[in-house]
Amino acid sequence: MAVARNKDPYVATCDVLSAFDLSPAAGKRVLVKPNAGRVAAPGDGVTTNPAVVGAVIDAFVSAGADVAVGESPITGVKTLEALEATGIAAVARERDCPLIDMDARPPIDVALPEGEVIDSLKVCPEVFEYDLVVSVPVMKIHMHTGVTLAVKNMKGCLWRRSKVELHMLPPLEGRNDKPLNIAIAVMSRALRPHFSVVDGTIGMEGLGPSAGTPRRFDTVVAGADAFAVDAVACRLMNRSAQDIGHLRSGAERGLGIIDLKRIDVTPSHWTEWAEYFEAAPASLSFEFPNVEVLDEQSCSACQSTLLLLLQRNGPELLEYFPKDHPLRIAIGKGHEDVPLETLCIGNCTARHKARGIFVSGCPPVGSAILKRVKAMREEASGGA
Ligand code: SF4
Repeated sequence: MAVARNKDPYVATCDVLSAFDLSPAAGKRVLVKPNAGRVAAPGDGVTTNPAVVGAVIDAFVSAGADVAVGESPITGVKTLEALEATGIAAVARERDCPLIDMDARPPIDVALPEGEVIDSLKVCPEVFEYDLVVSVPVMKIHMHTGVTLAVKNMKGCLWRRSKVELHMLPPLEGRNDKPLNIAIAVMSRALRPHFSVVDGTIGMEGLGPSAGTPRRFDTVVAGADAFAVDAVACRLMNRSAQDIGHLRSGAERGLGIIDLKRIDVTPSHWTEWAEYFEAAPASLSFEFPNVEVLDEQSCSACQSTLLLLLQRNGPELLEYFPKDHPLRIAIGKGHEDVPLETLCIGNCTARHKARGIFVSGCPPVGSAILKRVKAMREEASGGA
């Protein structure tokens, strides 16, 4: 494993990759899989820095590989729109590197006989058509999985909406492990990248993966074992991979190494660069005291929509919903019931719409939620 630091993300990435002999990639087709799962601007810490992607493309092309960049974003986001917004399309075009909408073609069904919580995956076909897959995530805190790094970034190789299924698994009887964590770990049986480059130039802390705070860190991590790369990245974020459910589960199943004593990292003083990345708050209501979010098995698409809406419009709207009479919002498919007058957001809550106010969509559109919240605000203020 290697770690490099530089204020210039392109230089940092070139430095970290210079620690590896990439010549085995000569003559191979290489699929670079960044995190471009959302429409976000470069520097927001939501998606991979385009300069990092540019350096990865250049390194593999210099090694003699035929490189393409591909992505399958979260539900409701169009691939090419996200690649443009993130600046990744521009760096790829400058290099005549093809961009692939991995949602465009039918998926390949992959059986997972030892999947435990999932028995098959719908995988974007390009994953099997390229010789090598390089996972290039951005270093982020994730409100559900602790962190999102090289292993979890491969979830963006699951086809279209099938990603959501990993968030919808029933709890495991008699076990504390979250099914989502086990699903991400066992997904690695089919979707383990051949090489990983974690972009920690501008990461995200707090309410990741999309509504947190960008965190400049000027650091890039790389290596062949995605679990080991993630373990090193975790240590740099002042965390232990043992505390990250999907990494621990994967290591327990022999899918990678997370024990830092067994991982060689250059340079030897790399741990001196560790900095604490703020954790995600335990509940969304913590951040928005006059909102009570009832979240049962939602996925990050609904959460992101809601969080961004509250962040942008919260103070203006929420003064009408005092702490002792909060705005109650339900998301996710796991609700047995919801209290009367709950704002039910997303198609997953449709069966409860008779008990409250319903906004359809998967994910729902922010402007439609805003319209309903404004109507509720008017009612709460007596139509004034
Ligand atoms: S409605 Fe929301 S929680 Fe349900 S699958 Fe769609 S985006 Fe995810």
